Amino acid sequence: MTHGDQRAAYERAVAGESRLFAVWPGQWSSDLFEIDDLDEFAKALGIKHDEERTGLKDHIHKVEWIKDPYGNDNPRSQYLDIDVTLTCGCSINDRRAFAAQMKEQQGWVIATSGGWSKSGRPGGPTTYSLRARRKSLT
Ligand SMILES: [Zn+2]
Repeated sequence: MTHGDQRAAYERAVAGESRLFAVWPGQWSSDLFEIDDLDEFAKALGIKHDEERTGLKDHIHKVEWIKDPYGNDNPRSQYLDIDVTLTCGCSINDRRAFAAQMKEQQGWVIATSGGWSKSGRPGGPTTYSLRARRKSLT
């Protein structure tokens, strides 16, 4: 048995080479659970993209952005406040997942700490207020 390295363990389990177990440590004894839903396991660890939870499809997003008119306008700041709209129909429920996708797709560096918000009217587009590294925006 091995422990640690969740991604490698997941890949072995998918390949049928091994089974995955989780240990729930208790005070007197530890319980051992076999993980039989590999899909859920991978989504929970972020190994596999989870469309339902993140609101984001696993595709190239169509993104429109403008400089936030009420945002920080200091040209010396590395980060720029932007208003983002997804015209592909996705929604951002998980900023970290969106940041990872945009890094891969466009090279954007989106701040994943600090505040962010969404706004919009029912039936209309949703606008997300995010911060991105100025130089990474294309
Ligand atoms: Zn999308």
